[in-house]
Amino acid sequence: MENCIFCRIIEKTAPSEIIYEDEEFLVIRDIHPLTPLHLLVIPRRHFTSLNELDESDPAYVGRLIFTARRIASEQVGPKGGYRLVINTGETAGQSVFHLHLHILSGRPLISSLITRGLR
Ligand code: 5GP
Ligand code: ZN
Repeated sequence: MENCIFCRIIEKTAPSEIIYEDEEFLVIRDIHPLTPLHLLVIPRRHFTSLNELDESDPAYVGRLIFTARRIASEQVGPKGGYRLVINTGETAGQSVFHLHLHILSGRPLISSLITRGLR
């Protein structure tokens, strides 16, 4: 989709540090990391947010989560903790309107549901 930074990253017309890619997902390093490890799992298909995913293919969501789990485990090690976050909608802190899942790790995270304000 034109004017979508994540679509441009997927098309490789915009730069990014790619950690992993397959036919469905791209994993990149966040440009403004909130934690020492801050990755984004981005579907190649443009969905504006989680709300645009239809329920006819629940396995797709499973593959998204399992991809995040696999990459997090590889990066963090089997004993390290990590947090997965999907901000959905502007009032929830979503700023890029192409579905993505944050992987946050590398320092103790406070017991909070929000990711902003952790700096
Ligand atoms: P959101 O706030 O929508 O949940 O998360 C968007 C994330 O994308 C933010 O953490 C922001 O730092 C990151 N981001 C925005 N633009 C770019 C970019 O051009 N490259 C990379 N690697 N990350 C970006
Ligand atoms: Zn997009």
